[in-house]
Parts: sequence; C-alpha cells; structure tokens
Amino acid sequence: MSGCIFCKIIEGKVPANIVYEDEMVVAFWDANPASPIHILIVPRKHVPTLNDIPDGDAILGHIGDVAKKLARDLGVADTGYRFFINVNRGGGQVVFHLHAHLVSGRDMGTKFIKAAIFLAVGWRKLLKKLGSNG
Ligand code: AMP
Ligand code: ZN
Repeated sequence: MSGCIFCKIIEGKVPANIVYEDEMVVAFWDANPASPIHILIVPRKHVPTLNDIPDGDAILGHIGDVAKKLARDLGVADTGYRFFINVNRGGGQVVFHLHAHLVSGRDMGTKFIKAAIFLAVGWRKLLKKLGSNG
C-alpha cells in the first residue's frame, strides 16, 4: 500500500536490516529497539491490524513459526523472549501494517533496581558498622 512504511521496506524502497524473508513474511530489526534483540515479523501482504486477518488464515501460525526459528537462531529460545502483536491505537499500535514483535535481551530496568537495592543495603550495613565501632 502506498504510504505504508513496512510495504516500502518489503518492496526494498526503504532500507531495513532484514534478518529473514520467505514468500509470506519479512523480518527485520526494529529501528528503535526496546531491548538488545527487537525484531519485527511482517506479512508481505498489507493487512492493517490483527482484526483484519480472517479466521483460520495461515499467516499467524507462520509468523509464530518464524519467531521460534529466529529465537533459536539468536540463542534466546531457552533463556526467553516476548512475542506480541499490538492492535490498534489503544493497544499501542503505531504502524498500521500488521507486525509481530520478537523482543529479548538484557533487562536494564531490573538490573538497575537490583544494583540500587544492593548499594543501599550495603551502605546501611557500613554505616551501622561504623556507628557500632565508634
Ligand atoms: P507498533 O507500536 O506495534 O506499531 O510498533 C511499530 C514498531 O515499528 C516500533 O517499534 C518502531 O520502532 C518500528 N519502526 C517504525 N519504523 C520503522 C522502520 N522504518 N524500520 C524498522 N522499524 C521501524
Ligand atoms: Zn503496508
């Protein structure tokens, strides 16, 4: 569809870091990754949202198969990843060409909170020790 950024990527008119493609889908790295691994799996056919996929259509199962394969290839199949589709504005959808997100990698938010708790507890222990010594 003209004006659709993902159609342009599929047609090769807009550059993208494509990691996988076949007759049904194209998968490429997200331009604004939420995590170290963030890939979008996009049907070649322009379909705006999940709601527009007819019941029983093979595309969703195929997108799932591609996600599993990419997760294996990237070494996160066992450690874990998120696989989701945002639907319409209220569901966080910004690009209205159906796409599934495959997201995995370091969770910096959790690591930061853990480090902050570790430092706070350590600091309290040190102050307590200094207080009991003096
Ligand atoms: P959503 O919110 O589910 O519609 O997700 C759209 C995603 O597309 C966002 O994560 C964007 O960072 C990503 N995106 C938008 N434009 C591009 C682009 N030209 N190449 C790669 N990813 C893009
Ligand atoms: Zn499109």
